[in-house]
Amino acid sequence: MSEEEKKEEQQATQPKKEKAPKRRVKVYSLYRVEGERIQRLRKDCPRCGKGYFMAEHADRSTCGNCGFTVYKNPKK
Ligand SMILES: [Zn+2]
Repeated sequence: MSEEEKKEEQQATQPKKEKAPKRRVKVYSLYRVEGERIQRLRKDCPRCGKGYFMAEHADRSTCGNCGFTVYKNPKK
């Protein structure tokens, strides 16, 4: 039996796990065009520079490229 056949048999016997769809950021959603001006809705990563956006979380912003994290300090 070849390696490929073995793999196929395994896949057939094991129930297929449903993969969660990979979340992709829609880059165009990170910009807002107002007339001739472009407003960026996300911050750039200070480490990676322009083009690398910080992901917005409830309490922090993180860079998906280098992992740079900025914690927000909400004033209460
Ligand atoms: Zn970065």
